[in-house]
Amino acid sequence: MPARSLKTTVWILEDQLNPKMSALAGLSKSECVILMIESFTWARRLPYHKQKITLVWSAMRHFADELQARGYSVDYYGTQPDYETAVTAHIRKHRPIQVRLMDSAEYGVSLRLAELVKGHDINVAVTANNMFLTDRTECGLEWRGKKTLLMESFYRKMRRKTGLLMDGTSPEGGQWNYDALNRERPAADQVYPAIPRFKPDAITRAVMELVSHEFPAHFGELDEFWMPVTRTDAERFRDDFLKYRLDLFGPYQDAIVVGQPALYHSLLSPLLNIGLLEPLDLSRRAEDWYRQGRARLNSVEGFIRQIIGWREFVYQVYHLKMPNYAQANYLGADLPLPDFYWTADTKMFCVADAVGNLKRHGINHHIQRLMITGNFALIAGIDPQAVNEWYWFAYTDAYEWVVTPNVLGLSLYADGGLVATKPYAASANYINKMSNCCSQCEYNHRQTVGENACPFNSLYWDFLARNAKKLENNPRMNMAMATLRKRPGKELTSSRAQAARIRKKLRQAERF
Ligand code: FAD
Repeated sequence: MPARSLKTTVWILEDQLNPKMSALAGLSKSECVILMIESFTWARRLPYHKQKITLVWSAMRHFADELQARGYSVDYYGTQPDYETAVTAHIRKHRPIQVRLMDSAEYGVSLRLAELVKGHDINVAVTANNMFLTDRTECGLEWRGKKTLLMESFYRKMRRKTGLLMDGTSPEGGQWNYDALNRERPAADQVYPAIPRFKPDAITRAVMELVSHEFPAHFGELDEFWMPVTRTDAERFRDDFLKYRLDLFGPYQDAIVVGQPALYHSLLSPLLNIGLLEPLDLSRRAEDWYRQGRARLNSVEGFIRQIIGWREFVYQVYHLKMPNYAQANYLGADLPLPDFYWTADTKMFCVADAVGNLKRHGINHHIQRLMITGNFALIAGIDPQAVNEWYWFAYTDAYEWVVTPNVLGLSLYADGGLVATKPYAASANYINKMSNCCSQCEYNHRQTVGENACPFNSLYWDFLARNAKKLENNPRMNMAMATLRKRPGKELTSSRAQAARIRKKLRQAERF
């Protein structure tokens, strides 16, 4: 074995692909060796979308090239059975004086990885994760013991802290939040900006081949892989959003249009979540577009709120509440995940469209996640842990820190209202108002009972009735519960009987 060198190993994980990551700070290029590992154990932990593994491994390979071009020495381990094998090989080869690791965004990961290194009798330094705008312990004291955490108050603090969209000590334009202007339904003949696609280069094609060969049974399709995998292309993709979509991001934020997987959304989450883009830089650029009069305030404020508000908020909630949070099931939901979350084979057009798009493109926009696939799982009573796992493997932007509070908290109310002030439960009435799905569906969105009735309707009433005891004290549910109480007994009974038939089909894995 070679003598111990004086170099420090900096181990860079899959979602830390940024030269400003904290473990590199203060080390000269000659003082360190970079370690990067593609682990099959990571890729097989869940049946991750084929495009996710492709994005991550191709971006890692490109980042290794970027670092080498900057003068770093990189020890890259492709297609390894697990981290341990590669760490052992790296330590034998380099005999580093210590290993530096930036704290993983996901709970418990750094500890496990540090143990692998310590097994070789080498000191491990874990540096703070600087890919977020907040430190993960920042809200701990203030939030301790609270039953509900308000994103809006957190967001205002973040606006003050970052100075984004501030006019002195006041919010730009006089209001903190312009969501009231952001609920428009697009015209039927609206023309949407084209979404740039990035042609896979030789590195990406090699990863695609590997993924097709090694993970054929994983979720999703690979032939349409479209994502940027280098920092330069990620920045081009960001600039295209700022130029062509940001201005109308706000007004149509809540809409769903068949055949339009992006509308005016940015599609930047897969890139932000692996470090190819930075949240503060992105928010500042969006603000510049407003300051230059090139994007309206309600759009820019809405976009910045998602990033410095929601994104940071869920990161805080996750670290405050893990590990117990992952097991939350306040409503006691227990049905199995329906097959159509895998196949998209269902007569419910809105669900088939969302899951079909997801399989093809690896992403859905927020309202499809919250009000279609999430809403169905909520009102049908699907086991939250099964739903959480599905969101985690099916999306290219999914990591436990972001998926768990969004699925268990925001979407399924499984945390009893910690993240969401009320359950986001809706019938076909809402889906028809916000989308053009219902006119193309075999089911009738106006019917609650009968062969052709949209399942969302009976399941919605049954959800309220089934969970009435847990929901009736929530002031934000007053209106929904009052409407439930006013429903004639006969109607409610037949709606609940219809819902019971659907729930039975779900239990028996029957198609509908
Ligand atoms: P935009 O609409 O363009 O928003 C801009 C950015 O804001 C996003 O890129 C994202 O970084 C951030 N953002 C917006 N909303 C949220 C949010 N609620 N939480 C965290 N960040 C947010 N986001 C993920 O990054 N990964 C996930 O696995 C994920 N799972 C979700 C599951 C459910 C059930 C729900 C309801 C939401 C989930 N989200 C997740 C949040 C949000 O839906 C996605 O960030 C967004 O749809 C990504 O598309 P976009 O980049 O076009 O977003």
